[in-house]
Amino acid sequence: MAQKVEKTANGYEVLLTDGIKLEADYVVLSTLASAAQSILQDPRLDENFDQLITKSLISVYVGFDIKDSELAYDGTGFITTEGTDLKCDACTWTSRKWEHTSKNDRLLMRLFYKSSNPNYERLIQLSDDELGQVALRDIRQSLGITAEPVSCEVTKWHDNMPNYHLQHRQVVESLEQQLDTYYPGVILAGCSYYGVGIPDCIANGEQSARLVMEQASKS
Ligand SMILES: Cc1cc2nc3c(=O)[nH]c(=O)nc-3n(C[C@H](O)[C@H](O)[C@H](O)COP(=O)(O)OP(=O)(O)OC[C@H]3O[C@@H](n4cnc5c(N)ncnc54)[C@H](O)[C@@H]3O)c2cc1C
Repeated sequence: MAQKVEKTANGYEVLLTDGIKLEADYVVLSTLASAAQSILQDPRLDENFDQLITKSLISVYVGFDIKDSELAYDGTGFITTEGTDLKCDACTWTSRKWEHTSKNDRLLMRLFYKSSNPNYERLIQLSDDELGQVALRDIRQSLGITAEPVSCEVTKWHDNMPNYHLQHRQVVESLEQQLDTYYPGVILAGCSYYGVGIPDCIANGEQSARLVMEQASKS
């Protein structure tokens, strides 16, 4: 793990948590913004970094030993509206959205409970078993599935999901300018800045690699 990036006369020194020091001409900080902020440890950047917020969520995967095709709806999931009786914010029909997640075409669902959900403070106190029951109730109520689940996996993601606001782009541009000035050759990448979806992150990873190669070929 990287602990600190420090500017040197010739480039950068990356200090790892096990004490190893690496010399680098370029550094791509592809962690969440909070980790990049603590790696750079530069108060001049804090005002911008502090505006890049992340939220928490709970994901619950529930698997059924029934065919995915028995789900009598088109599509790959739903997002709930305000005032719903359901507790979840969203439900993805994972086995239908990504076929490789269920080799035998068995139904696999994913439910999200976001920290913006009015029930979140209560839900986060529940055990994994209890959260599994909440998810099962949501599935039964919304989709009418009566089968018993054969698997259930609950994950509590603490401060892990970037939450963009209307000033997001300006904040990122301002940070980019600061890095150009104070840390030329240090590049920000990943979901905190350039899109949260996996395709965005892949595209940004490729773009970051191109940027480093372009800069390196000029020097
Ligand atoms: C529960 C959940 C469900 C999601 N579902 C979907 C979905 O269905 N579809 C979709 O498109 N997107 C989804 N996303 C969003 C998407 O998965 C993420 O935005 C994306 O994977 C982030 O990629 P990344 O490379 O920016 O960051 P990450 O994949 O988080 O990579 C950052 C890496 O930095 C490492 N790191 C942290 N600190 C340090 C350090 N100090 N030194 C070295 N390394 C460090 C971490 O260990 C991690 O490996 C989901 C996200 C979550 C949390």
